[in-house]
Amino acid sequence: MATDHVTAPPAARPSPLPASLTPARIERLANLVSASPDAARVTTTAPYTGVPLADLPVSTPADVEDAFARARIAQRTWSATPLSERKKILLRLHDLVLARQEEALDLMQAENGKTRRDAFLEVVDIALVSRYYARNGARYLAPKRRRGAFPLLTHTTELRHPKGVVSIISPWNYPLSMAASDAIAALMAGNAVVQKPDTQTALTALWSLELMREAGLPSGVWQMVIGRGSSIGGALMAGADYMMFTGSTASGRKIARDAGQRLIGSSLELGGKNAMLVLDDADIEKAAEGAVAACFPSAGQLCVSIERLYVAESVHDQFVAAFVARARSLKVGAAYDFSVDVGSLTTAAQLKTVTDHVDDAVAKGARVLAGGKARPDLGPLFYEPTILADVTPDMTLCEHETFGPVVSIYPVRDDNEAVARANATPYGLNASVWSRSASRGRAVAARLHAGTVNVNEAFAAAWGSVDAPMGGMGDSGLGRRHGAEGILKYTEAQNIAHQRVQGFTPPKSIPPETWAALLTTGLKVLKAIGTR
Ligand code: NAD
Repeated sequence: MATDHVTAPPAARPSPLPASLTPARIERLANLVSASPDAARVTTTAPYTGVPLADLPVSTPADVEDAFARARIAQRTWSATPLSERKKILLRLHDLVLARQEEALDLMQAENGKTRRDAFLEVVDIALVSRYYARNGARYLAPKRRRGAFPLLTHTTELRHPKGVVSIISPWNYPLSMAASDAIAALMAGNAVVQKPDTQTALTALWSLELMREAGLPSGVWQMVIGRGSSIGGALMAGADYMMFTGSTASGRKIARDAGQRLIGSSLELGGKNAMLVLDDADIEKAAEGAVAACFPSAGQLCVSIERLYVAESVHDQFVAAFVARARSLKVGAAYDFSVDVGSLTTAAQLKTVTDHVDDAVAKGARVLAGGKARPDLGPLFYEPTILADVTPDMTLCEHETFGPVVSIYPVRDDNEAVARANATPYGLNASVWSRSASRGRAVAARLHAGTVNVNEAFAAAWGSVDAPMGGMGDSGLGRRHGAEGILKYTEAQNIAHQRVQGFTPPKSIPPETWAALLTTGLKVLKAIGTR
């Protein structure tokens, strides 16, 4: 049964576009799209208001092929550019992103409808990732001496070559982060990139391209095309030496199949149904605050945001009261400043999914503890931060990703039940565990089937720890971004072994049986002296 209440009474009114987004500025960004001069156009709309935002050229499959041809030529020079020079470009990008962040925040808000606070996290992400790969890329990519087959006689080196031209397909929900962070690693590794950002948030992606070129990246090395997956997806796959895809699990399966057909590698960052566990010794006020940060960033349109909350029975009521009070007091609305807590959904399709999921759950008996409805009075795509109880498996949102500001709370007896229920999903992207005990929190975290687990944090601790790999298990994806894996996946490993004096073939003077006996003894000696 739904309870009747109103969330977020002090609503902010929809704003017009910010002053930085003049028609001339938008046109300059649109001109960065790789498309022919007579290309068809597509118009995007601003989620806050529904007013037209950008008129963008649409790339054809032939435009994508041209982009790959240019990229292939540019990549030869780029891969010969010293790592020290690539590093300087990334460090300049770092400085430019921080210096020009106001422009990026305006763009992200206008295209995606998120709050300025949520947009700022994307600026932080790009600064972290560009600094990280600038300062660590050379270490990962440098030739490495490896143990040879024969001690002293075999000189073995591992080299890392760029794959060539990488395709990146990036979504609309984290338009700066998802557009630039994967490109940064691919470029540092000496690849060229042809990228298709989502049309809805193309301006933000193009802004990062503009900045990277200003930082010194030669123009052919990173190019962007715009269009539907059904139109140019084939060309993006056909030209690629490696595919980096971020989006839904359904699309990821298709991409993986096509990459398999072409025998190229792919990295897939897909959907989730992420769980948060509040253990019986958690600091409840902090956990409630953490749940707000976990469930409602970017109006829940964050791959690592939390949609399931498992709370120990002994603290359940206390936690629910604290969480619900906070959710109800969140300020929902549109403002190009830091005054708002929860922004808009991005597309009408997303609003429909959220509405359908909540309506279905309520019709089947879920209780609405907070939110539960759209807010057309704020703008066409706003939806209240929503907390549901009594959710059962027959409700769509129990198992399926909503990708909106909606979370279900379930009481659990103990840690074992919490872990078992959190793991009862084909997904495995992110999780969050709350406990006053560091050892207990970390021990529970290690039992969770998720690529990242945050203890006493929602998602930002693991996401921001860019020295460690991040990505999904199970239906949440294949491959990782960040850390060593985040850059080495864009390389081909090559093993160069130089054999000196004597190899595996016996010298003519030694009979094969004697040679076999000598090698056998040699292998035993190597084990005995502790050789690895
Ligand atoms: P989607 O898969 O429908 O589309 C994502 C993007 O991929 C779009 O720009 C689309 O045009 C493009 N695309 C899809 N199929 C394509 C194909 N065959 N060829 C070329 N391009 C293709 O996903 P969506 O619903 O727009 O995005 C939200 C989903 O993305 C959610 O499931 C979310 O969890 C996931 N996501 C995951 C991560 C992560 O890091 N794991 C990050 C952000 C979003």
